[in-house]
Formats: sequence, structure tokens, C-alpha cells
Amino acid sequence: MRYISTRGEAPALSFKEALLVGLADDDGLYVPETWPTFTPGEIRAFRGRPYTEVAFTVIRAFVDGEIDDATLRAMIDEAYATFRHPAVVPLVQSGPNTWLMELFHGPTLAFKDVAMQILARLMDHVLTERGERLTIVGATSGDTGGAALEAFRHCEGIDTFFMYPDGKVSDVQRRQMTTVEGDNTHAIAIDGTFDDCQNMVKAMFAHRAFRDEVRLSAVNSINWGRVMAQTVYYFTAAASLGSPDRPITFVVPTGNFGDIFAGHVAGRMGLPIDRLVIATNENDILSRTLSTGSYTVADVRATITPSMDIQISSNFERLLHEALGREPGTVVELLGRLKSDGGYTLPADARAYIAEHFDAGSADQAETRETIAALHAEFGYLADPHTAVAVRVGQGFADGENPVVILATAHPAKFPDTVKAATGSVPAVPARAAHRDGAPEDINRLPDDRAAVEAFIATRTRAREA
Ligand SMILES: *Cc1c(COP(=O)(O)O)cnc(C)c1O
Repeated sequence: MRYISTRGEAPALSFKEALLVGLADDDGLYVPETWPTFTPGEIRAFRGRPYTEVAFTVIRAFVDGEIDDATLRAMIDEAYATFRHPAVVPLVQSGPNTWLMELFHGPTLAFKDVAMQILARLMDHVLTERGERLTIVGATSGDTGGAALEAFRHCEGIDTFFMYPDGKVSDVQRRQMTTVEGDNTHAIAIDGTFDDCQNMVKAMFAHRAFRDEVRLSAVNSINWGRVMAQTVYYFTAAASLGSPDRPITFVVPTGNFGDIFAGHVAGRMGLPIDRLVIATNENDILSRTLSTGSYTVADVRATITPSMDIQISSNFERLLHEALGREPGTVVELLGRLKSDGGYTLPADARAYIAEHFDAGSADQAETRETIAALHAEFGYLADPHTAVAVRVGQGFADGENPVVILATAHPAKFPDTVKAATGSVPAVPARAAHRDGAPEDINRLPDDRAAVEAFIATRTRAREA
């Protein structure tokens, strides 16, 4: 199977190549040239099967023979053995026809673990095979950095550097980055904001000489491997609730649109989905896009759900490409308008395509706190604020016949202050995640200065050309 860029100007790549490059040369995102599909019988056969078995079947369809079955299966088994729950991604019933899909039983308590744990193993496998090395650099406002450093610390061929704004991530999030055991992972505290960190990453990628010197790569949510890994749990949840014999509604707390786009991919692969509901906080650009047909950027507001404080949802480009009938010229034109005019209007057929598959809703911070309190009062459940946004938005879809699955994207212990304020209870950190409590922190404080950070990376990465 070949992978093509949403912008149509970069060469088509193999699975392995798409995995390693992340972003396409034309700044587009890679998608498979055609969607692999499963028959209703094949989907029915997922019922009652272990998570790793379904993951193998789904991921294998995208790898398409580039990695042998035994090796792929072993990587998947290893990746999900790091999860604390035997189901890997369990469902918890929260209403007569509503379930929470808990995606947070991985090592860093965030749903990012589901994709990072397998992505790290796949990338390292391909690099080892080729005798090559890479340097991964990223910026994080909290969750992604911890999940990536934890997943990539095992990699022989990869050195990973994540920048975070000094003093602006939670204690739990900082400790998850600064106590990782492994000499190939580095947390860098930047004297600046998250935007400064992100701009620095962009500047490093634009600095061609540095990029080539250390063989820079990225594992932010534009990497196809992350979307691919996330399609799996849509199949496991749906099959266990009676799919393909009844369609399921999924409600997804959304930021960069990677998670919910994976749901759409599952639909393209044959999974009967009723609605995919985009849940946003007050940064409701996606909900406004669905109701007005126009994607218009506003200022980002800081909320109690920081992973959803976003205006440019990078994976929305993949949906746009699909909704425009895979017409890359129009993708380029609309994204150009986003850059020059701060927004664009969806063509009628693209708008109709999106409306056919998606709904959207938003919850403000007061509603989110109320929902955390209500879940606790009604059945003693402690929900993280991102999950609570989706629970709130999902209430509008719970009276139909089809099961509603809410994606629970973080463990409540990652956001103890908000959860305690709403419920009076402090969520306990699960035992396996807590073991680093007393561990010494390894913090590298650097100024908001590209040259200083590049020098730091160049002297530590093993991927540097002699
Ligand atoms: C990353 C994240 C999200 C948003 O997921 P996207 O794929 O970026 O839409 C939601 N909730 C939590 C807790 C996250 O860490």
C-alpha cells in the first residue's frame, strides 16, 4: 500500500517511509492511497477477542506485508503489556445506553500512550533494520511529551528531546518527563510559553543544515502511525457492544483532531458508526465550523482542559482531503486562505460530507466542573476534565437507540486540582505510575534561543553525522 500526501505535491511513500518522515515534503499529511476494509463477518469476529489480537488485524492491514506477522505481533504484544488493565482499553457503563471507554491505563495515564507505545516500537524496528538513527524533537504543553519520552526510552536508534514551558505544566506532567529512566530521552524546560517551544521546533525543522545533521523527525499527531494505532479501539469497543449489527455513536474530546479522525477511518474501513461527535471546550472552532460551514480562527483561551486549547486542528486537514473527494488542489487553496485570511468557507459538497458523518458540541468550564461533580455524586466516578467535556456533550445524544461511547482520554490523577475542587476527592495515582514519586528529576533549563537548544541537542544525540 502506498501513502499519499493530502497536498498532492510530495512523492508517494511506503508504510515504513511514511512512518519515519511524519510530515510530507509539501507540508501535507500522509494518508493511505485506499482504505483497507473489513466485512461485517470479520468485524463480528472481533467480539470477545483480546485487544492485541484486534490491534494486530487492524494494523496489519495498513502495514500491508512490509513487516512480517510474527515481528509485528510481538511488537503489539509488548506495547500493550505496558498497560495496567487486562482489557487494555476497558469500557465502563455510565448510563442505560452509555459507556466510557477508558484510554488512560497506559504508563503516563493519557490516551497518547495507546499510539506512542506502538509507534516507538515500529519506528525503532525500521531504523534498526536499516542501520539508521533519528533524533525526535517536539514541543509539549503537557501530555504528549511524557507519553513520547516514556515510549521512546527503549529505542536503540532514536534520541528524543521534548521542550516544555518552564513552570507552566502541572507537577505530575513535569515529573513524567523529568524522571524517565534512559539516557536517550531529554526533557528541556524553556524559559518561555508553549507557543515559544512550538515555534522553536518549527524553526529547527526549517533550519535545513541542522535538520539533516541530526536527522530530525517528529511524532506529533500528524504522524500517520498515531492515527493508525488509534483506529483499533473504535473496533474493539464497537464489536463488544454489538457491532456490526448496530451502529455506535462515539463522543470524542477533541483538540488536534487525531483521535476523532481515527474514528472516521474506522468508519471508512467498514465499521458502522452512527455519529462521530466532536466535543470541544470554549475553544469551539470545530463546533462553529460544523454549524456555520466556515473555519475561522479566534484567539485561544486557556481552560481547565489544556489538551483541547487549540485553534488550528492539524488533523482536520486529513478530513478536509477526504471531504473534498481527495482533491489536493482544493486542500492547498483552502489552507492557503487559512494562512492569509485566518479562515475559509467549506465548499457545499465538503460541508455535506462532514455533516453526514459528524456532529459537534461544546461545554464551557462551569459545565465541565458540574459534570465532574455529577458523575462523582451519581456513581462515585472520578472523571478528568477532558472526559467530562465529552460526557456533557454526549448527553445530547444519549436518548437514541444506539449505544453511545464516550472517549475517556486522561486519568483523573493527571488533573488533581480541578477534580478535587469539583468533588472534594483527590484521585489516587495508580501504583505503577506512582513509582517515580521520589525519583530525582533531570531538568535541563535553557533559554528561548534556537542556537542554544540546537547545540544542546547536537552534543547529546547519537544520530549526528560524523
Ligand atoms: C491530546 C488530548 C486530547 C485531544 O486529542 P486530539 O487527538 O488532539 O484531538 C484530548 N484529551 C486529552 C486528555 C489529551 O491528552
